[in-house]
Amino acid sequence: MTLSKHWQTLYTNVNLATMTDGANSYGEIIKGALAISEGKIAWLGKVSDLPDVDSSVVDIIDGKGQWLTPGLIDCHTHLVYGGNRANEFEMRLQGKSYQEIANAGGGIVSTVSATRKASEQELLASALPRLTALHQQGVTTVEIKSGYGLDTLNEIKMLKVAGLLAEELPVTIKRTFLGAHALPTEYKDNAEAYLDIVCDEMLPQVVSENLADAVDVFCEGIGFSLEQTKRVFDAAKAHNLPIKVHAEQLSNLGASELAANYDALSSDHIEFLDEAGIKAMKKSGMTAVLLPGAFYFLRETQLPPIELLRKHQVPMAVATDANPGTSPIHNIHLMLNMACTLFRLTPSEALAGITCYGAKALGLSESKGQLAVGYDADIALWNIEQPAELCYQFGVNPLSRLIQNGQQVLMNESA
Ligand SMILES: [Zn+2]
Repeated sequence: MTLSKHWQTLYTNVNLATMTDGANSYGEIIKGALAISEGKIAWLGKVSDLPDVDSSVVDIIDGKGQWLTPGLIDCHTHLVYGGNRANEFEMRLQGKSYQEIANAGGGIVSTVSATRKASEQELLASALPRLTALHQQGVTTVEIKSGYGLDTLNEIKMLKVAGLLAEELPVTIKRTFLGAHALPTEYKDNAEAYLDIVCDEMLPQVVSENLADAVDVFCEGIGFSLEQTKRVFDAAKAHNLPIKVHAEQLSNLGASELAANYDALSSDHIEFLDEAGIKAMKKSGMTAVLLPGAFYFLRETQLPPIELLRKHQVPMAVATDANPGTSPIHNIHLMLNMACTLFRLTPSEALAGITCYGAKALGLSESKGQLAVGYDADIALWNIEQPAELCYQFGVNPLSRLIQNGQQVLMNESA
């Protein structure tokens, strides 16, 4: 047997939730093993099928019957920002009106002004604990959006900080340019002039400095119209950047269908998405990204159309939407639980949402989000007896080891 001669690490005596079967099942391998070579998964299967392994060459780790899953993927966050909105949260609960809160400088305007004031180092320092929290919960890949700078200098600053986070922690960061997140106050009556800057100044600079992997737009009555969204999509397409969209959160403007025409990666939020939009998404191979944290925090009542998404077999991802205004939540385990309790996803659907389908929403389905030969060795080991435990409870962290690109990056003896 020579098969194992290039292996560096072998996890044996583990159960695997490979997540290679979409949301249909965990793709379990009971009493299994998984081998890593040069940062990739080199072999996996039943222990009984293991070839002879030379323990003088291969680092063999006894998983003691614990479960291996792909490293978790948070495919939608805004976790780089200045300040926070606790003051506004408190004012609202004291019964203050939206106008009073706005007069006191609340809302997205306050985050934009705090983000503009903060230096790169300050933004990095405030984002680091948020990313650390996700990392310690088993997250190995995070998407981070810009969108609180709303001018060229500060949008670029946010994307640079998002990139710097990958030097601080062993987490893969994918960056999304969201210049069309909101209108800055200086352009509040002139959206077209602001979009000129987004499309003709910010985007070319973002592309020339290679600062983004995708482009996103907040298409909504309080965001940008369908026509304005189309402008940004055209600009993204001209630069060959994939598209994502904040769509159908508070109303149905048809942004998911529009995005489907541009072969977008994902449509996110989608509480008000209709069947025509779902069919268009299915046809173009898009992923639906569910954000239960924002649904919860805003106390929304319109549920996303889960049954129709299932009927048309549109992949459903789940993410934190970590942001200061509508989802100040940096807990992926809580999202698993909320996806099940609030949206009635099954545990295997929820887990697929933060593994294989989280990867798909980022265009990474060929390299991440599954335990399969040739995939990146981003792997989490959990002290659980069955995968549903990851969705069933939160607050106790059962992560015992985390591996990124084949390297062990976390170990928790007490899990
Ligand atoms: Zn968002």
